[in-house]
Amino acid sequence: MRKNTIVLLLSALAALAATPTKKPKLIVNLAVDQFRYDYLTRFRSEYTGGLKRLWEHGAVFTNAFYEHFPTVTAVGHSTMMTGATPSVSGIVGNEWYDRESGKQVTSVSDDDAQLLGASGIGSSPRRLLVSTVGDELRIANNGKSKVIGISSKDRSAILPAGRMANGAFWFDVASGNFVSSTFYFPSLPAWAEKFNSSRAVDQWLGRAWTPVTGKQGAAPFAKLAAQSGPSYYGTLDRTPYSNDLLVLFAEAAIEGENLGQGEYTDVLTLSLSANDRVGHALGPDSEQVHDISVQTDRSIGHLFDYLDKKIGEGNWVVMMTADHGVSPLPEVMQKRNMPGGRMTEGQVLKAIQAALSAKYGQADWLIGKSGPAPYFNLDVINQKKLSREEVEEVAARAVRELPHVYRVYTRSQLRTGSLLDDFVDRRVRAGFNARRGSDLFIVAEPYWLFEQAGTSHGTPYNYDAHVPLIFMGPGIKPGHYDMKVAVNDGAPTLATMLEVETPSGAAGRVLYEMFE
Ligand SMILES: [Zn+2]
Repeated sequence: MRKNTIVLLLSALAALAATPTKKPKLIVNLAVDQFRYDYLTRFRSEYTGGLKRLWEHGAVFTNAFYEHFPTVTAVGHSTMMTGATPSVSGIVGNEWYDRESGKQVTSVSDDDAQLLGASGIGSSPRRLLVSTVGDELRIANNGKSKVIGISSKDRSAILPAGRMANGAFWFDVASGNFVSSTFYFPSLPAWAEKFNSSRAVDQWLGRAWTPVTGKQGAAPFAKLAAQSGPSYYGTLDRTPYSNDLLVLFAEAAIEGENLGQGEYTDVLTLSLSANDRVGHALGPDSEQVHDISVQTDRSIGHLFDYLDKKIGEGNWVVMMTADHGVSPLPEVMQKRNMPGGRMTEGQVLKAIQAALSAKYGQADWLIGKSGPAPYFNLDVINQKKLSREEVEEVAARAVRELPHVYRVYTRSQLRTGSLLDDFVDRRVRAGFNARRGSDLFIVAEPYWLFEQAGTSHGTPYNYDAHVPLIFMGPGIKPGHYDMKVAVNDGAPTLATMLEVETPSGAAGRVLYEMFE
């Protein structure tokens, strides 16, 4: 008895004496919206800031892919810190038709939340069904870790931070304020109010976006209004200065929330959005995308310098990635003698409506959509006593007949799993959530877009799915890792480093190759 007590006491003392593994003080999930992997390599010689540092001192995964469809902003951002695919996370698109409420919703729209810092309906992570790395940290230490999400876009601020985040903040182009919602707190924190009233946002009034990559004297890409207001804020949001503003706000958040100053690891998720807006309008081959990439390298460099100073070099870990890639402009591809072109969502929806009306009689067959993917009107199907599966098949056949449609999947097909095992089918299956998904899933041929101008992303193809995945900080072995990995591997890897539970929906593996 006595001996046992001594043994117990000794082992308890040994546990106390064991040096705990040193944990980083701050984890930064840094995302650059629409930043394709090849922007790292194509413009590498011009990077002198944060991207250069990541490339040379980080663990660079050169073949990281999203393993889901559709490759859009909300889904990408919901993957980074959860490791989950949409089939499990419930974030199936930027927007979709919600059968429970009977209306179109966005990934973060929330009628029960009010905007803070501007007026209107707020946004929240209520549709996210799984935990993030930040949630797991806060669960493990009973809320001692702080988690903050920041972006220009609400979904990009909210989804990586997660449901237990202390706050998420995004940019409101009507007011030029950083806003949040009553989901997190009854009013904006004082530091955010202070940042807004400082009008730091107005420091680029009248400024031109002059290329740093062009020849001396090259014409500016944009000129910002000299007067503050929605027009100025809206334009600012699609220039490199938007990223600089986000970095300034992130620094204010680090100071205001004392991130990285305490005993417990904190989390900052920061997503730079302007790159996506420029890319949509002009495409990955444009001078503007080249220029904003080089300017983003500088903005990230400033952030890293700040973190070294404030948190201390060796005390913070960054995971840098992007939420999706982008397709080249079809017009550019045609000149290259490559495939590609444009079709419309309207063509698809009209073909479905016509085929179902011809077969079953005139009715409003469609009730909602997610991109070109339709949601059928179940009331009509029930009234006419039709089989939902058969209706799906009739509609799918009509869409398959459209030129340059590559594959059409029906909801019933995805439920029963009669699929090929190639990467297109696998990515579509990972994007399917039976409660929230559409009734058809439509994949166009490579380089074909549903947009009438500019370019987009969303396909399962690699130009939309291949993104940077780079880790840098203590405990991480720098180098280039060429094996194929998934962005879904990032969250379980961070969870392992932090010794917390793997996020609930994580589908990836731990990238232990890079551990020191
Ligand atoms: Zn995006």
